[in-house]
Amino acid sequence: MKENRLARINELLNNRQPDLTVFMDQVHKPHNLAAVVRTADAIGIGEVHAVRAEGAIHRCSGTAMGSDRWVTTHRYETFKEGIEVVKKQGMQVLAAHLSDKAVDFRSIDYTKPTCILLGAEKEGVTDEAANAADQHIIIPMLGMVQSLNVSVANSIILYEAQRQREAAGMYGTRKISDEVYERLVFEWLHPKIKRFCQKHKIRYPQLNEEGDIDDDAWQELRRNI
Ligand code: SAM
Repeated sequence: MKENRLARINELLNNRQPDLTVFMDQVHKPHNLAAVVRTADAIGIGEVHAVRAEGAIHRCSGTAMGSDRWVTTHRYETFKEGIEVVKKQGMQVLAAHLSDKAVDFRSIDYTKPTCILLGAEKEGVTDEAANAADQHIIIPMLGMVQSLNVSVANSIILYEAQRQREAAGMYGTRKISDEVYERLVFEWLHPKIKRFCQKHKIRYPQLNEEGDIDDDAWQELRRNI
């Protein structure tokens, strides 16, 4: 059982795309936040970013179907704070934004380190966010309504990114660091012990190749608590 789970976790982590992310700027409806996270998980994104809308409580509803366990959401109080984190990672920031200077989302090279910036349900992308973006992208709208639901727009763009990255052979080889890999394997295989370590502020134990705890020094540490 543990071996199957470890194999599944390995497969998932080998597909992770650390240089692809989503930035939700004041998206506030829980089902939209959750749906964005769920699509991110589905295409191999492990970390997303979210700026809280004024007065809103950030939580994902059931739509995430547990994907919020596998995807970390970094939350910020201000746009400035969040965008600095993403820019420091060398990402091209693409605002999904229905502006005059937006280009067709299919004309972009998503094999580059990329952050997709999404706007709020009603207000869309703020001026501050539009100005901070390197480019604006649009999904063509040929009907009567002017925009898509934010999570639908996210899915369409991310699956284009996934298509390009798959064609470029960017899946199947581990790109996350050894440190992140080891931490996630441990946390996902041993969630109760993870909570124990966090509660008592002790390090995580070493695992053997089967994913079992194999660390005498850590056992001693645990006994002394
Ligand atoms: N009235 C808002 C506006 O004018 O931007 C509509 C907001 S839309 C419901 C929410 C977000 O979804 C947008 O800010 C954008 O990020 C994304 N979005 C929706 N439709 C889109 C489209 N056709 N192209 C690009 N992004 C889109």
